[in-house]
Amino acid sequence: MAITDAPRGAGRATPNAIESALAQFDRAADHLDLAPETRAILRVPKREWTVNFPVSMDDGHVEVFTGYRVQHNMARGPAKGGIRFHPATDLDEVRALAMWMTWKCALVNVPFGGAKGGVTVDPRKLSQNELQHVTRRFATELQGVIGPEIDIPAPDVGTNAQTMAWIMDTVSMHAGYTVPGVVTGKPVGLGGSEGRADATGRGVMFTAQRALREAGIDMNGATVAVQGFGNVGEAAARLIHEQGGKLVAITDVGGGVANPNGLDPAALKLRLSEHGTIAGAPGTEPIDNAGLLSADVDLLVLAALEGQITANNADAVHARVIAEGANGPVTPDADPILADRGIVSVPDILCNSGGVIVSYFEWVQNLQSFAWPADQVAERLRQVINGAYDEVSAMRQRDGIDARLAAQAIAVARVAEATQIRGRYP
Ligand code: NAD
Repeated sequence: MAITDAPRGAGRATPNAIESALAQFDRAADHLDLAPETRAILRVPKREWTVNFPVSMDDGHVEVFTGYRVQHNMARGPAKGGIRFHPATDLDEVRALAMWMTWKCALVNVPFGGAKGGVTVDPRKLSQNELQHVTRRFATELQGVIGPEIDIPAPDVGTNAQTMAWIMDTVSMHAGYTVPGVVTGKPVGLGGSEGRADATGRGVMFTAQRALREAGIDMNGATVAVQGFGNVGEAAARLIHEQGGKLVAITDVGGGVANPNGLDPAALKLRLSEHGTIAGAPGTEPIDNAGLLSADVDLLVLAALEGQITANNADAVHARVIAEGANGPVTPDADPILADRGIVSVPDILCNSGGVIVSYFEWVQNLQSFAWPADQVAERLRQVINGAYDEVSAMRQRDGIDARLAAQAIAVARVAEATQIRGRYP
């Protein structure tokens, strides 16, 4: 199978991200026997913006870009969620990602609601100068929409610490003073938190370790395949490798590499920086996404995009445990097929919550004008994510349900409680 920029259920008719998010929510609402009015409130975003804005490109021509910000729910605090730059990003995708952020923040019990943003653009086709202009103009369009007490963006697919620095600077220029708490995932030299860059991957490693252990497998010596080698996938691969996991296959947007004797994540990172993809790294065999997703491994880490394992390919999966580093990588129609085959998934809102946990730490540090050392950040992350893992396990066992439903039900119950206690205005 050719690897494309925009994998969506391998191109087949499967639930898209918003259909998946709503199906998961409905299942949790049914399990909780949620009151109809609460269900109606939580099923839709609170606010959403679509902005179209012109940018002068390097060759002098003007291009109009479309961006989105969706604030799904703010009952428990300011909205929180990343900004994605991707050619396939649209309003429905951002709505789904915003809803998942609401549940994620509630599950790990940080005082945030959920939001997400995106610009429909392929960042790899823009120069740094053009990227900076797109980012600054998008941040300007979001004036009054984002802010440390309103809605706090962070990096996601196609954006990084530099993107956050440009947003922070743009918001600060308009405010007339420095506003570090408007975004998280900033460079450490600009008020970013130690440990934020690796936080999502570290959380993936912690939760995968727990799930493997429950399946009777030690991470030390386990065989591992990873889809995606960006912020989440690279850090997860490196940290799993440090724990003794044997990386046997990794793909990115440019292709994939495999070696049954093990891949070296440091060498692949170097390859990526020199060639823009890990594909073709010396001493490796090529592998595509279909090969990676069906690899006979102990652990499959999904760290690229949503809709990767669907009812159409779930039968081909041979991993013992799946760690959902990406948001929505397994569609609801695939869940029962995987469960019937005894494959355990660590659900996305738990597995990749390390990013928002450390983003919360960064926001707290910014508000206090204080910085925590890296070991303190990693230890607090471990405590919070393991605590959430324990809560999900306890509910799973108590109610005899799968981990995704348990995670969603815990989260939805918290947001529903906050919504009900606040009452209705006016
Ligand atoms: P990124 O842009 O840093 O990396 C994305 C990776 O996916 C890249 O390696 C890219 O090459 C790869 N990819 C894209 N298309 C692919 C394809 N067709 N086949 C194989 N690989 C492909 O993005 P990221 O921040 O690492 O985010 C990855 C996922 O994790 C997304 O679902 C995102 O929403 C989620 N997530 C990210 C964070 C975070 O802190 N960055 C936190 C929680 C969840």
